[in-house]
Amino acid sequence: MSKNLKTQTTEWSTEQSADIYGINNWGADYFSVSESGEVIVHPHGNGVGVSLRNIVDGLTDRGMDMPVLLRFSDILDSRIKKLHEGFGRAIQEFDYQGHYRGVYPIKVNQQQQVLEEITEFGARYHHGLEAGSKPELIAALTYMQDPQAYLICNGYKDEEFVELGLYACKMGLQCIFVVETPSELELIIERSKTLGIPPIIGVRLKLSTQASGHWNESGGERSVFGLNPSQVCDLVDRLKEVGMLDCLKLLHYHFGSQIPDIRDIREAVVEACRVYIGLVNEGAPMGILDLGGGLAVDYDGSHGNSEASRNYSLDEYCLAIVENLTSTLNENDVPHPNIVTESGRATVAYYSVLLFNILDESRFEISDLPTELPDDAHELLHNLMAVVRVVNLRNVQECFHDAYYYRDEIHQRFKRGTMSLRERALAGEIFWHIVTRIAKLTEEMEYVPNELRGLPAMLADIYYGNFSLFQSLPDVWAIDQLFPVMPIHRLNEKPDREVVVADITCDCDGKIDRFVGQYTTRDTLPLHNLTDQEYYLGVFLVGAYQETLGDLHNLLGDTNVVTIQVDTDGALHYSRELEGDSVADVLSYVEYDPKRMIQRIRQLAENAVRNDAITAKDRRQIMEAFENGMRGYTYFER
Ligand code: PLP
Repeated sequence: MSKNLKTQTTEWSTEQSADIYGINNWGADYFSVSESGEVIVHPHGNGVGVSLRNIVDGLTDRGMDMPVLLRFSDILDSRIKKLHEGFGRAIQEFDYQGHYRGVYPIKVNQQQQVLEEITEFGARYHHGLEAGSKPELIAALTYMQDPQAYLICNGYKDEEFVELGLYACKMGLQCIFVVETPSELELIIERSKTLGIPPIIGVRLKLSTQASGHWNESGGERSVFGLNPSQVCDLVDRLKEVGMLDCLKLLHYHFGSQIPDIRDIREAVVEACRVYIGLVNEGAPMGILDLGGGLAVDYDGSHGNSEASRNYSLDEYCLAIVENLTSTLNENDVPHPNIVTESGRATVAYYSVLLFNILDESRFEISDLPTELPDDAHELLHNLMAVVRVVNLRNVQECFHDAYYYRDEIHQRFKRGTMSLRERALAGEIFWHIVTRIAKLTEEMEYVPNELRGLPAMLADIYYGNFSLFQSLPDVWAIDQLFPVMPIHRLNEKPDREVVVADITCDCDGKIDRFVGQYTTRDTLPLHNLTDQEYYLGVFLVGAYQETLGDLHNLLGDTNVVTIQVDTDGALHYSRELEGDSVADVLSYVEYDPKRMIQRIRQLAENAVRNDAITAKDRRQIMEAFENGMRGYTYFER
C-alpha cells in the first residue's frame, strides 16, 4: 500500500488528516494514512501495509466485539531487529571490541505471548531477559534457554529467588544477580557456598547523573535502588574477603524510563564507564556493562525533549553510547565490555493498538441569547448581559473575570434564596455565551493566557468510547501520559467536531482530554460527525506498561486480544485470539462465586413463582438472561 497521500475531495485531503493527528511524526515507519482515508499498519516497517478498518471488518465477521487490543507480531520482530542493527552499526563505526546483548525487561509487558515472541524473535541476536521478581524469573527461565543470552536478575531477592538463579547457572544459563542493596550480597554468598554453585554477580550503581522527564527518580544520588560508590567499594572488599571477586562480572545502572534528552544519556554512560574502569582496576573480571532502560518513544512525534518525546533517533542513541564507551575505555586501556541495554518501552510500545467504537455523544449546546432582559431583572443579570455585548479581543481577560464574578454572585444569592430558579438558569445561559465568545476570540490571539487555554476543552462535545481508561490506558489516568489517538477511517472527510473522549466507567477521570496534534498537544480531538455506521478510534503505541497495570474499575475486565501477522506479500493472518474477561471472570476476581450467584437468583425467581409474581416460563427467561449476562463480555455489546 502506497504511503503517498492524495487529495480526496476539494475541501479536505488525507494529508490534512495525517497532519492534524500527527501520524507521520509519531507513526515511525509503522503507521500511515492511505489514499482511501484509512490508517494503514506497516508491520515490517515501511513496505506492505494492512488497513486497520479491514482488520476490524475481519474481526466483526468472526464475531469479535470491541474493544480489541491488536498485537502486531511483525512489529515486535522489527523493533528487536532495529535495536540490534543500530548497535551493530555503531559497534562497527567505532571499532568497538565487545558485543551488544539486549535484554527485555519483563515488567514492561509480562504477557506470556510477549515473552514467547521476544525470545523467538530475539534468538538470532541472543537477546536475553531481565527479571525483577520471582514470578518474572520463573517466567524467564521457562522461555529463555539460550546459554549465550543474559538473564539479568534485578529487584529484591529472597532465598528461593537466589537458589533458582543458581540452579539456572548450574544448567549453563548466564543468570546474573544484580546486587541492588548491600544486604543482598550476604545471601548470595551464603546460598552459593551452601549449594556449591558459583554465582555471576553484578552490582547496581546509583548514578549522580539525573535525567529530565517523568521517571527521573530512578537516577540521582538519592534514588531508591543501587549502591553508591562507597558501598560498591565495600562490595568489592567483601568479595575479596570471601575469595569471590572473580564472580563480579557486571556493572548495572538504570536512571529512568523515557529519557528525553540524549545529553543525559551520554553523561550517564561516561559516569558508569568510570566506575566500570575502577572495578577492573580493583581486579574484578567484569566484561558486561548494563545501561538499563530509558530509550524513549516519541509518543507526540515532536522529536523534542519533552516528557512524551525524545530528541534523538535510535541510531543516535546507539552511536552516542558506543562512542562515549570507546573513547573512555581506550583512554584507560581497558578492554571493551559487552554492552547490555534493558530497553522495554522502545521494544514493545509500537506492538499494540487499542481499538474501540464510539457508542454515543453529548453535544455542548446553549440556547439562543435573549435579545432583552425582563424590566425587573436583577442588576447582576444586566451586568452579565453587558459583558456579552462588550467582549472583544482587547478586553477578553477582563470580561472572563467579570463573567465568573457575576455568575458566582448569582449562585450565592440563589443559595441564600434571594434569587429565583429562573434567574439562575438565565445567568447560566448568558455565562456560557460569554465563555463561547471568549473561546472563539482566543483562536485569534497570538498569546493565550494560561487561564483561557482550557476553554475549548470546556466547550467540547463528548464522545463516549467503548473502553475503560483504567483497564486499557492506566497511565493516562495515573500520570497524564500522552498516547496518539485518532479515527482509523473516514480520513478523507473533514472532521467537524472538537471532542473529548470519555470511557464507559462512571468516573469523571475516565476520559482522554489531551491529544497529540501536529508538533503540539491539544485539549480536544477533531472527530467526524457520527452516522448510523460504526465509528472506530485507535489508540496507538500502547504496548508498554499498560496491560498489567490496568485495573478492574467498574468491573470492566481485560479486552479481547487479537494477534495479527502480515506476510511480506501483504497477506493478513489473525494468528491468535484471546477472549477478554467475561462477567463471571471479573466477578470471581473480586471473590464472588458465579455458581452460587446463579443459585441465589434461581431461588429468588422460584420464590417469585411461588408468590405468583411470575410464571414458571418467566422464570426460565429470567434465568437465561442472567446466565447469558454472566457469560457475556464486560464491555458494551451491540
Ligand atoms: N530496567 C529496569 C531496572 C527498570 O526499572 C525499567 C523500568 O522502569 C526498565 C529496565 C525498562 O525501562 P524502559 O521501558 O524505559 O526501557
